Amino acid sequence: SPSRSSVIIVGAGVSGISAAKVLAENGIEDFMILEASDRIGGRIRKESFGGVSVELGAGWIAGVGGEKSNPAWELANKSGLRTCFSDYSNARYNIYDTSGKIIPRKLANELYKKAVDSAKEKMDSEIRSLRSQESNNRGCGGGDVSRVTEPPLEDPVSTPRTPFEHALDFLLHDFEMAEVEPISTFVDFGEREFLVADERGYEHLLYKMAEEFLFTSEGKILDSRLQLNKVVRELQHSRNGVTVTTEDGCVYEANYLILSVSIGVLQSDLISFRPSLPRWKMEAIKTCEVMVYTKIFLKFPHKFWPCGPGKEFFMYAHERRGYYTFWQHMENAFPASNILVVTLTNGESKRVEAQSDEETLKEAMGVLRNMFGPNIPNATDILVPRWYYNRFQCGSYSNYPIISNNQLVHNIKAPVGRIFFTGEHTSEQFSGYVHGGYLAGIDTSKALLEEIRKERKTENQNHLLE
Ligand code: FAD
Repeated sequence: SPSRSSVIIVGAGVSGISAAKVLAENGIEDFMILEASDRIGGRIRKESFGGVSVELGAGWIAGVGGEKSNPAWELANKSGLRTCFSDYSNARYNIYDTSGKIIPRKLANELYKKAVDSAKEKMDSEIRSLRSQESNNRGCGGGDVSRVTEPPLEDPVSTPRTPFEHALDFLLHDFEMAEVEPISTFVDFGEREFLVADERGYEHLLYKMAEEFLFTSEGKILDSRLQLNKVVRELQHSRNGVTVTTEDGCVYEANYLILSVSIGVLQSDLISFRPSLPRWKMEAIKTCEVMVYTKIFLKFPHKFWPCGPGKEFFMYAHERRGYYTFWQHMENAFPASNILVVTLTNGESKRVEAQSDEETLKEAMGVLRNMFGPNIPNATDILVPRWYYNRFQCGSYSNYPIISNNQLVHNIKAPVGRIFFTGEHTSEQFSGYVHGGYLAGIDTSKALLEEIRKERKTENQNHLLE
């Protein structure tokens, strides 16, 4: 018969690892971590490219320098991770048009201010309409999450726009949302951001964390409580426990389960629940929007883009919103690496993920030639991560509607019987970030420990009564 653990944790990303660590620290040593892929880290993932380590997933420690200390920044410092300061805010001064001209600074400032104002105006009107919907809902049962949290449209403003306006709109909505609305990460932890620039990768933080409670040797995790290549396909749950079946036919049993898979995976049919999840849970999972964010890396024989202060980021203004808009050079992180990164999101991400890398390379080179002239060299290598088509991810991170009601996150996070939910998408304040995942794991394990304590207390009482 299958072995039984106290707790099974599904997924070994930052939230799964931090959840396991809290259990271990509190005396629950007989846990089991089942991870679908052949490595830990999940959306924290480095890969060698063009002679350096690039981050396919999380790249920045966002929110540094404020009153409270960002736990991801603390972990980075503790483990000696190499980082470098990185500042998007210059991007608006480096906007190229399709003929390679840079928009003058004064005009850039004016257009930027206009874009911020219009984004704020739009948000105010959304808040007003949410409030009126909420007051309409009151008295008739309320609680209809799907009505008050319609996901925003891909392009939040419907009026036709110039290429420059598109570029700034993209910058504001897909990168600098903090300019428009207060985001806890920056309000609490500070406005600075640091790019991870370490050969060991962002994931080094996770190995350091794992070392504290799993058996490791020479940087490798050799603890049998971590099982890699275990794709969970079925969760059977009852009042007495949880039974997990993996794709390779193995069966595991536990008193409790912590599920850390992404919101995209929860929306997919990778895992079936028996009995199925209650309606309120399924509704909440369905309602949460999944952001796709793709960093494409290009290696060149030499650099042809400007470097130096204020030049780390540049943008391309095109009539199609989000068409190879946002660029970054890697010279600050890895000098002389001759690598450029272009970031695509949502619709453009999905389009590019579905096509061949050769096609993507051709498109990207076309854009670069428009900006820097026909004589620039071809890229010698390209790397296109596919977060959307990866069935263990199905997207990059959760994106709650700008003005969502707390009920939505609350329902996504709430346990169902013996299944506890964790992951960045369960963080009320810091969803979408590494520190969000880290804190969510801690939070979920604490809630589970509380539940275990209660259960033990009841058992003891029943025992005494007998
Ligand atoms: P995950 O890391 O996804 O962990 C879940 C684990 O579950 C995965 O390892 C997965 O393989 C596993 N799994 C899935 N299905 C199954 C199954 N059926 N059975 C077993 N295991 C399964 N955050 C920042 O703070 N700064 C950034 O700059 C930043 N940039 C980002 C850029 C990109 C492109 C992406 C994708 C993310 C970025 N993030 C960033 C977000 C950050 O990476 C995530 O919030 C965080 O890593 C999520 O951790 P998690 O533990 O919630 O989920």
